[in-house]
Amino acid sequence: MFRVIKQALRMMKWKELGIEYGKCSMCGKTLFIKLRNDDISAIRCVRCRASVTSMALASVFKKLVPNWEDKEIYELSSRGPFFKFLHKRASHLTYSEYFDDVTPGAYKGAVQCQDVQELTYANDSFDVCTCTEVFEHVPDDIKGFSQMYRVLKPGGLFLFTVPLSAHKQTVERARLSEGELIILERAEYHDDHIRGAGNVLCFRNYGLDIVERLSLAGFKNTEIILVKAPTRWGYNRRVVVARK
Ligand SMILES: [Zn+2]
Repeated sequence: MFRVIKQALRMMKWKELGIEYGKCSMCGKTLFIKLRNDDISAIRCVRCRASVTSMALASVFKKLVPNWEDKEIYELSSRGPFFKFLHKRASHLTYSEYFDDVTPGAYKGAVQCQDVQELTYANDSFDVCTCTEVFEHVPDDIKGFSQMYRVLKPGGLFLFTVPLSAHKQTVERARLSEGELIILERAEYHDDHIRGAGNVLCFRNYGLDIVERLSLAGFKNTEIILVKAPTRWGYNRRVVVARK
């Protein structure tokens, strides 16, 4: 708790501080707090600490997956409000993290390591796969999308978010070539709960052509749903819905 308060104080700009009553897609009636204006992650649900991004994913998830509590679900993280929301109510939840120092399929404590480019799960394992802000950090995203497609059951859904602009084309910022990292555009780093703030390289900035990248992996009828922000402070988010 102390760590959370310390983090919030570091982020906060007093003049931009806001509080508003509203409804969180995960925990219901709540208060939202805005710590500053220029950062989407500075808006949070006070009760479950969800960000605008995880609330957007949860609202699409609840709408498109009826009786989700009984489905086979795979979520690519082991922490955070959306994980906790699933963990509390889903009867068949599989989850993983990517650890640099663990072989995919093996465990670190209670958490399984998986590399999304080479998942160790059997074909047709899950009804729904979910993740937030992961794929921009995957060196070979088409390979990762193909793995998500492989482990989904026919008719299964892949629901996720990535930073997604309204630009048509994805901008490649970096790539791996035979194990060597090649930076194509100024290196951009994001935060990560395992590696810390500003420590994960962003391989690309996705544009709306993410739909074509998903179709290369086999996905059909992919939609990009614009979810209205739950507060008047704005920050609508796009959620990608891909179907096997
Ligand atoms: Zn909440």
